[in-house]
Amino acid sequence: MRAELLKNIRAAEPYVPGEQPRNKVIKLNTNENPYPPAPGVGRVLREMDADCFRLYPDPTAGDLVNALADFYGVGEDQVFVGVGSDDVLSLCFLTFFNSGRPVLFPDITYSFYKVWAGLYRIPYECPELDENFRIVREDYYRENGGIIFPNPNAPTAIYEELDFVEDILSHNRDSIVIVDEAYVDFAGRSAMELIDKYDNLIVVQTFSKARSMAGMRIGYAVSNPELIRCLNNVKYSFNSYTMSQAAIACGVEAVKDREYFEQGVRRITETREWAKEELAKLGFVFPDSKANFIFARHPEHDAGELFEKLRADGIFVRHWNGEKIGQYLRITVGTREEMQTLFDFLKKELG
Ligand SMILES: *Cc1c(COP(=O)(O)O)cnc(C)c1O
Repeated sequence: MRAELLKNIRAAEPYVPGEQPRNKVIKLNTNENPYPPAPGVGRVLREMDADCFRLYPDPTAGDLVNALADFYGVGEDQVFVGVGSDDVLSLCFLTFFNSGRPVLFPDITYSFYKVWAGLYRIPYECPELDENFRIVREDYYRENGGIIFPNPNAPTAIYEELDFVEDILSHNRDSIVIVDEAYVDFAGRSAMELIDKYDNLIVVQTFSKARSMAGMRIGYAVSNPELIRCLNNVKYSFNSYTMSQAAIACGVEAVKDREYFEQGVRRITETREWAKEELAKLGFVFPDSKANFIFARHPEHDAGELFEKLRADGIFVRHWNGEKIGQYLRITVGTREEMQTLFDFLKKELG
């Protein structure tokens, strides 16, 4: 393109999503849930009258906001919903990281953070994880323009207890701290219980993992009413109707079925604990996972080669090049049967 034309165009270095193969494979590469969403979701879709699509949806997505507020025991003015947590997180970057000072997030983490910071021209610094892939809390005591980290972290799957989160919050009273809890349902306590105590906290969660609805695109933030209002002001300056009628209705059904949700989480965590034992028996080493994936390395086998061999056999896992994580595979916890197929292949391959 001509330089004169190019210089007026916003350059972006996009996020690279995991592969979505169309043929039948064992798909352990993007941390989706192997089980279907709550039965009510299918029911509401089947009963939906297409005539409802003539009208714009409720711009506040009020039914879904109410359902989530009920579920978590917070006020309706404390919940914000969006098109997957990627939408919510990107709006959070735009809304809250506006100081001109560098935002802090770990060097090894969800790679979308860097992309949004780049797109919105937000300066950032990435403190290194320690040699055990743990976040070093003291790195977050310095002056900054905001902080974001996932808990459990991705792709390491390491969960930090709430006293750790609270320590970062209390050292940063004048910065917004976003805790990205995409995987917290598989892990432990949510930082949501700290919301009344820390007015600088935003907790972001998603329907994509524990609720089996990655394809429906629903995410949400929970915080105090003031910060939720700021988020809504930016949203209504951008796109009023982010949530479709279908997403709102399906989301409500999923939230209503607490028992199905809890049972589904139990099923995944049981398979994960068994998968850890099997991987260890095969000689893999990995940080202790509290998510629905395991970040594992084999001391005697190259991760890139294993990744290709698995792929050729129709078993998809995730692999990134890079000095620190290039020898790791991120393996999503699938059904027990899928995991057994993976282990059978690895047994054969590793001899
Ligand atoms: C999966 C994931 C998300 C985004 O999920 P959505 O499908 O956009 O809700 C956000 N953060 C982390 C760390 C994730 O792994």
